Amino acid sequence: MPPHPEAIILGIAQDGGVPQPGCFCNTCTYYVENESRLSPTSIAVKDGDDLHLFDVTRDLTKQLLFIPEESRQVTDVWLTHGHLGHIDGLGLFGKEAMGASGIRLHASKSMLKLIQNTPRWNSMLEQGVFQPIPFVSNEILRCSSDLSIKPISVPHRDEFTDTHAFLIQGSRRSLLHLPDHDRWDTTLTHVGMKSIRDWFKQIQADVVLLDGTFWSEGEISRQTNVPHPPISETISLLGPRESHDIDIRFIHFNHTNPATPRGDESLDLDLKGWGLASEGEVIELFTDATE
Ligand SMILES: [Zn+2]
Ligand SMILES: [Zn+2]
Ligand SMILES: [Zn+2]
Repeated sequence: MPPHPEAIILGIAQDGGVPQPGCFCNTCTYYVENESRLSPTSIAVKDGDDLHLFDVTRDLTKQLLFIPEESRQVTDVWLTHGHLGHIDGLGLFGKEAMGASGIRLHASKSMLKLIQNTPRWNSMLEQGVFQPIPFVSNEILRCSSDLSIKPISVPHRDEFTDTHAFLIQGSRRSLLHLPDHDRWDTTLTHVGMKSIRDWFKQIQADVVLLDGTFWSEGEISRQTNVPHPPISETISLLGPRESHDIDIRFIHFNHTNPATPRGDESLDLDLKGWGLASEGEVIELFTDATE
């Protein structure tokens, strides 16, 4: 039997990765001493011969090793937005590195404009490394009989580009990938929903990889300049996880977040039954979880 297509979590850190350059906090020190690191947030979805990559980080070399060798050829790239950790690996596809060609680059109009206005990236369009395919919010792209992808616009600091989450719909299960947004009140107003649960129910998500950048308010002194809903707030809005609830796992951890894993060290945090994603984890999208 051929292996089931699936999503693979390639990175769970915020844009700067863990350890952060020049930081000596306990978490960063742990990673330096153990000669390991967490990569910026990214996922891959295998679908037959196609490999879709959601955001491209500087750790692409390490991240592709989570994917079986025979499926490592990236065919499609999807970009959430223009902040550092989500796009700084794009150059790795160019002629100085992989020398790829014809990769379908799915991005919003404003994201593609940033690429076209950045000479280093625009040259990769001119050389045919990427074939740009602009997407429109809420318009579903059917990639194959097993896979459809719907970009969903979310409010997030838009100094460079707008921001999208992606609803990745397999034939049996759907995954919402939402690494960055500013605040729940603005996001819920933007999508016309009253509660997080209502929204996830409406879009029929079975699994959600959710912005968990910070654990609490005031975790860093400049947090109001880089807003993300803290995990503690998201959990208090959700309430405890019930047995029939969907699977929500937090991603995009800042190095200051106590939810950032440190090896086998157990976390003294009350997640009320909700989860934390880990690198290399596989999520089935095309079969029932129980199969
Ligand atoms: Zn980010
Ligand atoms: Zn640190
Ligand atoms: Zn961002």
